[in-house]
Amino acid sequence: MSTYVLGIESTAHTLGMAIVDEKLNILSDVREVYRPSRSLGIDPHDAAEYLSKKAGYVFKETLKKASVTVEDIDAIAYSMGPGLGPCLRIGATIARLLSCKYNKPLYPVHHAIGHIELVRLYYNLNNPLVILVSGGHTLISSFTNNRWRVYGETLDITLGNLLDMFAREIGLGFPGGPKVEELASKGSRYIELPYTIKGTNLQFSGLLTNVVSLYKKNIYTLKDLALSLQETAFSMLVEASERALTQLNNDSIAVTGGVASNDRLYAMLVEMGEEHGLKVYRLPKRLNSDNGVQIAVVGLKMYLSNVEPVDVENAIIKQRWRLDEVEVVWR
Ligand code: AMP
Ligand code: MG
Repeated sequence: MSTYVLGIESTAHTLGMAIVDEKLNILSDVREVYRPSRSLGIDPHDAAEYLSKKAGYVFKETLKKASVTVEDIDAIAYSMGPGLGPCLRIGATIARLLSCKYNKPLYPVHHAIGHIELVRLYYNLNNPLVILVSGGHTLISSFTNNRWRVYGETLDITLGNLLDMFAREIGLGFPGGPKVEELASKGSRYIELPYTIKGTNLQFSGLLTNVVSLYKKNIYTLKDLALSLQETAFSMLVEASERALTQLNNDSIAVTGGVASNDRLYAMLVEMGEEHGLKVYRLPKRLNSDNGVQIAVVGLKMYLSNVEPVDVENAIIKQRWRLDEVEVVWR
């Protein structure tokens, strides 16, 4: 008999639900994404309102696409954090309700571990250096002594924020990453911008301020500004990753999170990997962004490893939760 795990993701703009089986087959993967207006960033309460309205539809579609009934599900996993409080509460409430009503074990999952473990399990990687670049995270991680340790990270905004905020400033709307990528692919000239690495850590806010002020001066084309922003930010990330790599014993490199869908970033990482004889892995683009699959696969591992599920009263949310606080007991 098959094992089915339902994963629920709701850390920010995406309500994602998915069902996976014990062989890690993805039986369904349904999402609805909140999009803020062109000039504004994400409003957590508006986003939560949107996610809550979509909950019934996403849940029904997830079951229908997987051709399973709610009774067939063996366990439920949800994103406990980190993320936006109002959005996290939607996913946690759905998870608690389903767990109570149908008497299913409940597993809380760290969102970043979802991103990381999905790429690791998808390619069956042994000891990858994982670069997680998304709206909520920018970090360089490797697994040691039962934890995904952080070897480098942003000290201010994330790489996803940098691209989204630049896109918003120039009127491109949300999400900005793909639009900046398209603009940058048409650029031809590199304009020098602030490049800030501290050890293996990164800072992007000076870069953002600088590129926005150059845009306002109206002396460079948008294409060249987008190209220069990408080249600078991605080079910083690749250099920090390479610095981390030289201190570790990784046998591969994986890049994940929404920004991993950027082909220029991927090409730069591949080039760096080749110099170290390491292959660079990334998921099919759809799986880089927030989704229920990443939560379901971690839930599945917890369930199959007999990890103690949480009681509904303890199925809380954690808006702030560092990756290296989580002891990975299921590997
Ligand atoms: P996530 O938080 O994992 O859902 O990722 C969302 C982030 O990924 C947003 O900041 C997007 O702008 C960014 N993103 C998505 N596609 C791309 C792309 N092709 N290039 C750069 N950033 C991207
Ligand atoms: Mg994410």
